[in-house]
Amino acid sequence: MSVAIVGSGLAGFTAYATLRHGGLEPGEIVVFGMADDPAAAWRLRAAAIRQREMRSESDGHCLPTSFPGLAVRAAVRRRSARPLVESVLDRYHPSVDEFLSHVDELRERSGWDASLRRARIERVHAVRGGFELDGHGTFRHVLLAPGHPGLNVPEELRDDPRVVHSYAPHEYASTVTVVGAGLAAATEWLNALDAGAEVVSVRRREPVRRPLNVPRQYFSRRGLAGYHALGPEQRSALLRSLLEPSYPPGRRFDEPLARGACEGRFRVEPSVNGTEQVICATGFRRGVEHDPLLRALVEEHGLETAGHRLVLASDSTVPGLTDATRTLAVAGAPAQWAFPGADTLVGAKYAARGFLRRVQACPTP
Ligand SMILES: Cc1cc2nc3c(=O)[nH]c(=O)nc-3n(C[C@H](O)[C@H](O)[C@H](O)COP(=O)(O)OP(=O)(O)OC[C@H]3O[C@@H](n4cnc5c(N)ncnc54)[C@H](O)[C@@H]3O)c2cc1C
Repeated sequence: MSVAIVGSGLAGFTAYATLRHGGLEPGEIVVFGMADDPAAAWRLRAAAIRQREMRSESDGHCLPTSFPGLAVRAAVRRRSARPLVESVLDRYHPSVDEFLSHVDELRERSGWDASLRRARIERVHAVRGGFELDGHGTFRHVLLAPGHPGLNVPEELRDDPRVVHSYAPHEYASTVTVVGAGLAAATEWLNALDAGAEVVSVRRREPVRRPLNVPRQYFSRRGLAGYHALGPEQRSALLRSLLEPSYPPGRRFDEPLARGACEGRFRVEPSVNGTEQVICATGFRRGVEHDPLLRALVEEHGLETAGHRLVLASDSTVPGLTDATRTLAVAGAPAQWAFPGADTLVGAKYAARGFLRRVQACPTP
């Protein structure tokens, strides 16, 4: 077997679809993961915050090519040009249901289940001509897509019995504090107001308003070329600012929040107070040190890191462990060094395409 993907979430799934499109058969790829459904983790989190619409646009899918995207699919199904027109104006956002049915269909027709092995990989060990994955054999090309290393709850709130993380299933009490300033926080303000609660927003800074989770320019070839030209310190500083929590501009958020404020049910406070419930919309833990697989990889092979990030080549491969005979690549949140929007579906495609190019350049003898 020549190719392995570690992690059976959406990034691993997108890579799988890309490899299949590139001509690999299910029998030539092994996917190691804990869940059969590639949307398993995502589904739970989106349901917890009652997300109905994708933040991403037509190209936010798991198919190997960007076009035709979910707008074309919706236009055909609804027999309407509207999704296409909205897409041209960057205003088309597929529903979560549309996205999930696309994942289900692609899972079915790609052969995903035939390639899946239910196993957690503890160690990736570089050997001549490939990588040994625990006792599962040696693979010439490996893509690591382990996702985020757990949910983040601020230290001072960890023992507070009122706390629930926004990505864990929950209902709403009659008084709710929402900690955070990103899309999950904004969605929770609206959810809790809708449920009739009095809502307090606690945030460290004023939220950034932007349509996508990083500025649009960093999804383009040109924007990316400028990013890749930056030295390590500048790149780290830019990533810090790009990855600040943000949520989209628009009346969808502004109107209910203004109404809530008028009714005395929405306000901003500097710190957590005495509300019945505290929802931490504080995202995920960040950094290789929190992921046992990546931490061991860095320690064992002396890989370069910048702050808590793994330093990667522009095509999302691990320098020093990738050459003409073997590939180690990374996708998803741990690949932000190569692509600032790595933790998006478009970002997953970016890593997947880089991986496929390496696999094709070095076929199994
Ligand atoms: C609520 C929410 C809404 C989002 N909305 C959008 C959106 O609209 N558009 C967009 O583009 N992006 C969106 N994103 C971002 C992005 O698409 C997701 O974060 C995506 O799920 C990342 O996929 P992943 O495969 O990296 O991680 P995950 O889906 O978390 O999957 C990782 C998988 O790897 C497994 N794993 C981990 N370590 C190992 C190991 N050592 N061995 C074997 N298996 C392992 C885990 O068990 C898990 O199954 C959203 C994210 C969230 C949370």
